[in-house]
Amino acid sequence: MTMTTGQPGPASVEMPDPNQLPKKEKHIVHWFRKGLRLHDNPALREGLKNATTFRAVFFVDPWFAGSSNVGINKWRFLLQCLEDLDQNLRRLNSRLFVIRGQPAEKLPMLFKKWNTTCLTFEEDPEPFSKVRDNNITEMCKELNIEVISAVSHTLYKLEKIIEKNNGKAPLTYHQFQAIIASMEPPPPAEATIAEDIIGNTRTPIDDDHDDRYGVPTLEELGFDTEGLKPPIWIGGETEALARLERHLERKAWVASFGRPKMSPQSLLASQTGLSPYLRFGCLSTRLFYYQLTDLYKKIKKTCPPLSLHGQLLWREFFYCCATKNPNFDKMSGNPICVQIPWDKNPEALAKWANGQTGYPWIDAIMSQLREEGWIHHLARHAVACFLTRGNLWISWEEGMKVFEELLLDADWSVNAGMWLWLSCSSFFQQFFHCYCPVKFGRKADPNGDYIRKYIPALKNFPTKYIHEPWVASEAIQRTAKCIIGKDYPLPMINHVIASRNNMGRMKQVYQQLAKYRQTPNNPEFGGSAISNILAKAQASAKAFTEQQSSSPSPTTILKTVNNSGNYMCSQRSDHIEMPPQTVLYHEPSLNASSSVLQQQNMMKHRNNTNDMCHQQENINEFQYDEDGTSQHHNSYNYSQKQMTALNETQQQEDQHTIELRMNNLGNEDTG
Ligand SMILES: Cc1cc2nc3c(=O)[nH]c(=O)nc-3n(C[C@H](O)[C@H](O)[C@H](O)COP(=O)(O)OP(=O)(O)OC[C@H]3O[C@@H](n4cnc5c(N)ncnc54)[C@H](O)[C@@H]3O)c2cc1C
Repeated sequence: MTMTTGQPGPASVEMPDPNQLPKKEKHIVHWFRKGLRLHDNPALREGLKNATTFRAVFFVDPWFAGSSNVGINKWRFLLQCLEDLDQNLRRLNSRLFVIRGQPAEKLPMLFKKWNTTCLTFEEDPEPFSKVRDNNITEMCKELNIEVISAVSHTLYKLEKIIEKNNGKAPLTYHQFQAIIASMEPPPPAEATIAEDIIGNTRTPIDDDHDDRYGVPTLEELGFDTEGLKPPIWIGGETEALARLERHLERKAWVASFGRPKMSPQSLLASQTGLSPYLRFGCLSTRLFYYQLTDLYKKIKKTCPPLSLHGQLLWREFFYCCATKNPNFDKMSGNPICVQIPWDKNPEALAKWANGQTGYPWIDAIMSQLREEGWIHHLARHAVACFLTRGNLWISWEEGMKVFEELLLDADWSVNAGMWLWLSCSSFFQQFFHCYCPVKFGRKADPNGDYIRKYIPALKNFPTKYIHEPWVASEAIQRTAKCIIGKDYPLPMINHVIASRNNMGRMKQVYQQLAKYRQTPNNPEFGGSAISNILAKAQASAKAFTEQQSSSPSPTTILKTVNNSGNYMCSQRSDHIEMPPQTVLYHEPSLNASSSVLQQQNMMKHRNNTNDMCHQQENINEFQYDEDGTSQHHNSYNYSQKQMTALNETQQQEDQHTIELRMNNLGNEDTG
């Protein structure tokens, strides 16, 4: 708990006896941002002690809301969280004050109007929020207002973990685990704010409260709600606690929690999914953590091989990595991010984001994301790999932004961390493992029900073809009332060729990076350096799988998926060639059904194979040039210009950054 008094320092003049002074009344404002809950809210609890009045505020800027890069589902979820908070405060004879405007501008006015003497808030671990909070704290000092802030969004005080690691964020999960193992366990969740805590503290509420401070509607925020489907996810603390209870009731499931498995059912929004609630702080991570601990004790499984605790620690790990790195969500200026010359291709990005890639598995996932705001963990793996190193070679930053807009649980630190990981930009470098968008989909959704739900155009396709409908005959397509290339797009890229070429490009990047590092184990540059990195990663993978892990890392997941069947397009790293081929993209405007069918028939004659990526010379193709424009028949190989730019980028970085990056990658958590 941090408290700044806002009082002047000790003065040399004799101070009057404080007991003789009229008692100063305490008027508190609690500023909600994340942490939209009354349980485990230590800052509010502390603030309420001896308070005369209490007001809970939340800031919304209606002029900014509609134009922000946050989708309607997420706004709706937030507004539901606020409605629920208001309802819960009403039970305590209080209300939520939703203030229209910016905190830095509005707070001083409100402080004056309400005679505020104390501001309370939950500590926010994100770097930009910390700057905002420091500024507000400084302002409060000037206004002689006490500030009380407390850690409750994360399990631990992240600064303490960093301090224990010599001032640097641990960049591997194992390092992170080792540090927290040497620390006191996280503090338990605090009880819910109830009448006993509120005591005589009152909230002055005006008759026009709803008009001035009520929770806004989506329309007020500028959203067009026509055609908006009913929500699948309901925001708020009440719903979060009910879900937690249901989650823990599934004792058998919790006890046997293991590597994420995917079934057609688990792909759908679950009644117990908790990530959006943790994101908005409707659910305390400490409450979740300790209720799990109790459950594990009760079922006498004190040390499960893989536990849900581990999932919460992954969250904590990414928060820790990001808290002092304002560029954690960027490639440029991010010391832990490998600089990869991704393509700029707005057209391909739009197809991916709108579920128009022509790969039903990928498109169904993106449709679910857009419609409902949540997708399964492995589904996130599939689409992130497809966009970046797997197929489209588009920067992870772009994918992260789309997730930020659409995912209800999108979280600045976790989202960026996972995109860095999946794109081989940090934490993970096994670029020779790559998800196959057909085989992986077939494994996860063998009957194609998930695809049929999210892509109604394909609903009549026989199961045999639903994951690669372009191989179905003309007659089958007609019977299914869906002509591929007309009613549903042809695959936008040849996955087999693209993934092979992209592995080659990645290899080039890592070779470039390796040139700048000379260590006793790694005395030569170039090829031997990269093989050292790869050997190191493979050795640590082996070592780790021999241990018991507490929770699966993305790397484990990739490996498990791979081991459970051939759902990847893996290659042995020493067999990866530099990319010689052109990757062909289908022209998006294939509209004449006859020509499409003609082309497909030709395709089938040429490709008498069951694989999903059929390459034909006669389909119009386009390629992306360095400037991002679509071009015909450009090579996917790096141009000399790109390689020079890549070289320059690496050279410009100081040695420390290169070391940091290399160490981080070399020590990847392969668990
Ligand atoms: C590209 C990509 C982006 C992602 N972006 C986010 C994001 O913005 N926010 C987010 O919460 N999760 C993100 N994840 C992680 C993960 O997919 C979700 O946390 C999980 O699917 C949520 O479902 P659940 O609540 O049923 O998880 P459970 O398995 O029940 O886990 C419980 C909680 O642990 C945390 N957690 C679980 N897995 C992870 C993980 N790998 N890393 C960090 N925390 C984890 C979450 O808070 C989750 O709610 C991302 C994954 C990928 C591959």
